[in-house]
Amino acid sequence: MATDELDLAPATPAAGSPPGPRGLGTPAAPGTGSGAGSATGSAGFSTDAELAAGPVAASRPAAPAGTSTDKVKVLYIGGTGRSGSTLLDNILGQIPGFCSVGELRYVWERGMVDNRLCGCGRPFRECPLWASVLTEAFGDAERLDPAEMIRLQQARVRSRHVPRLLASRPDRSPPPPGSYEARLERLYHALAGQTGARVIVDSSKLPSYGRVLQDIPSLDLYVVQLMRDPRATAYSWMRKRELRDYGDLRWMQRQPPLKSSGLWGMWNAVAELFWRPLGDHYLQLRYEDFVADPQPTVRRVLRLVGEEGAELPFTGPHTVRLGPTHSVAGNPSRLANGEVELQVDAEWMRRMDRKDRTLVTAVTWPLLLRYGYVGRRPGTSDRRSGPSEGGRR
Ligand SMILES: [Zn+2]
Repeated sequence: MATDELDLAPATPAAGSPPGPRGLGTPAAPGTGSGAGSATGSAGFSTDAELAAGPVAASRPAAPAGTSTDKVKVLYIGGTGRSGSTLLDNILGQIPGFCSVGELRYVWERGMVDNRLCGCGRPFRECPLWASVLTEAFGDAERLDPAEMIRLQQARVRSRHVPRLLASRPDRSPPPPGSYEARLERLYHALAGQTGARVIVDSSKLPSYGRVLQDIPSLDLYVVQLMRDPRATAYSWMRKRELRDYGDLRWMQRQPPLKSSGLWGMWNAVAELFWRPLGDHYLQLRYEDFVADPQPTVRRVLRLVGEEGAELPFTGPHTVRLGPTHSVAGNPSRLANGEVELQVDAEWMRRMDRKDRTLVTAVTWPLLLRYGYVGRRPGTSDRRSGPSEGGRR
């Protein structure tokens, strides 16, 4: 099976799990702790029963997160869309001690406002984990206005701010109480508190959002810059694909190859400029290398965050067993559970229009060369010409 994220589907259903999302519109009984929609211990989360029984009904916010002496490790997957980040995020979320939350920057809009499906299969507002997290972070979650968070976020992450951010050093002073950054700080600390996870995996990808996290001193940010051949991503952006987030049939956003390749070039260049200075907190990965050799690649990510030796969810050299996560947004493959086979999707090589391919190559060629996508066959693992880690080349 090809592992373009959009094609990802279970090879076999997870044990005891019905295929596809369950319980649409039907809140799961608290404390049942079973079925596909349950957060499972094997996925690094508390079970529903534990969540229901745990001290999650606090009526006031926890102590300001910035006063905690414990930093929260955040593993940020940065880059551009259709690069395989959901698959990597989902696999990491299966590892004990890791919590996969998908593209967390969308929690306000797609989670709180749109009430789309959580990775556990429930509508967001019916997920017990997210109810607990929002309660710990903000007290009565109803008092947090998601529209205000969306507005504040849009003001922070706009592309026009990138030149200023590139010219400035990260500001590591504690965020002012009540600010957008202070609320984000509470959210990530509450996630760590409610899941018991040592590492929060956030595949929001957008470099300017990741830079906001970098400025929060109580978050220990690690970055994986995940990239995929821009011709493959442009082809993926052109295809018509189902969106399963709402529980009914809708379609994913599409965009033309010129836009895809322009964004690919801009965000990958910005990601590298932002985070190469992080040194040993930074790793570049190519999706093609990850799929060709998944286990060693995931081990590299574990070494990055100081979690070597953790048990991996692979059932074979190219097969992995995926259980539910609590991702708030991402590719539809985040809702797939069961055993999944990893293969490079090379459909774009056979079917992409020659004109589109030439256009994308022309727009992105400096980085194609830098990241080793020209001059050799994609999907091979010649590390000598591939991306580097730890800011060293
Ligand atoms: Zn959930």
